[in-house]
Amino acid sequence: MSKVLKNALVFGNDFSFKEQTLYIENDRIADFAMGEVEDLNGMLVMPGLVNTHTHAAMTIFRGIAEDVDLNDWLLKYIFPREDKLTEEDIYIGSLVGFMEMIKNGITTFVDMYFYEDAIYQAAKDLGIRGIVARGLADTDGKGEKKLLLAEKFVKKHNDDPLVKGGFGPHAIYTCSMDYFKEVVKVSKNYDLTITFHLLESPDERDNFKKENGIEPVEFLDSIGAFGKNTIIAHGTHLNSDELRLISKRGSTISYNPTSNAKLGNGIAPIKEAIEMGVNVTLGTDSAASNNSLNIFSEMKFGALIQRAKFCDPKILKLEEIVRMGTSNARKVLPFDIGTLESGMLADLIVVDADNFSMIPKENMLANIVYAFDTASIKRVMVGGKWIYHDGAFLTVDGKKVIENFEKAYGDLNSRL
Ligand SMILES: [Zn+2]
Repeated sequence: MSKVLKNALVFGNDFSFKEQTLYIENDRIADFAMGEVEDLNGMLVMPGLVNTHTHAAMTIFRGIAEDVDLNDWLLKYIFPREDKLTEEDIYIGSLVGFMEMIKNGITTFVDMYFYEDAIYQAAKDLGIRGIVARGLADTDGKGEKKLLLAEKFVKKHNDDPLVKGGFGPHAIYTCSMDYFKEVVKVSKNYDLTITFHLLESPDERDNFKKENGIEPVEFLDSIGAFGKNTIIAHGTHLNSDELRLISKRGSTISYNPTSNAKLGNGIAPIKEAIEMGVNVTLGTDSAASNNSLNIFSEMKFGALIQRAKFCDPKILKLEEIVRMGTSNARKVLPFDIGTLESGMLADLIVVDADNFSMIPKENMLANIVYAFDTASIKRVMVGGKWIYHDGAFLTVDGKKVIENFEKAYGDLNSRL
């Protein structure tokens, strides 16, 4: 199916904004196409945003653990509830998470959780693009089985252009060294994403060193964990030497400023990472630690907190922070996303350019980073297909999904 979007104010590759006609042939942007013509009446069209670290199903935990540290947050609140989650809970939680992302202009996600088939199905039912990285840990003695399932899942969906599998060794404190090594080894057989949490909290480094007698990054590098398909979630406490190494290896850092600040974990060294040439993208983390799934707000807060830390208003310039939310993800993900050039996937959002946040149009990039109101997002397209239009989801029954979600939440609480 082809589409012609006329009178669109298109966000260009060079950060320009031009009134033009946008052509879409099947799932990609084209130089020309004949097809259904839609008049956008000057609305802004920009690439969909990319959320490179999330656990979508955890929308079901939104607001359950407030004002506690990461250790209590995990051990007292999250892990006991995760024990009780069913595959149906994961499906409905993920679907609600993905719907929230679409509504907020996110068209691609990288998720790490379990019951990967349910997450995959939720993404497919809605029509959002992404990587479903099976969360892996061997603290329960079932690591090997999980890795086999992860590999099976990755193989099964390798040719799916919309949702692919990946590997998600959870962290160095939930995977033994041997297990982490095995996961990395298996992941090398596939040209797909591997992602893990690293140095998220201040005490992770010392705990690991005390237990294993080696620096976390030194260990991970020795097993080849830093490759071009690697997304390091957080990296809040990486030092300069480690950033230099990560840059050399070509890995990506997913910067999660809100989650890191909210859990009191610190401010990631993003200014230094960029100076050293590390590819940086943005992540929301889960709705249990954020509590919303919105990359526009990560762009704003992520830039502001670096400026506040260094008392410097010239760092993380507009172009830089927009690239983090859009095109930088292309360097690490197996999708042609992040810009609206011909040949790229037609993953885009249509924004009301007359919204308060967008006027005057003196500096549209500044409006996008510092003033954006996601209520101004009128339509969302993934792979040439409209999936959201004027507040309604076109692929799923939004009202029914919310009803099912509330029921699942109530049932989960009754099982605790
Ligand atoms: Zn996380």
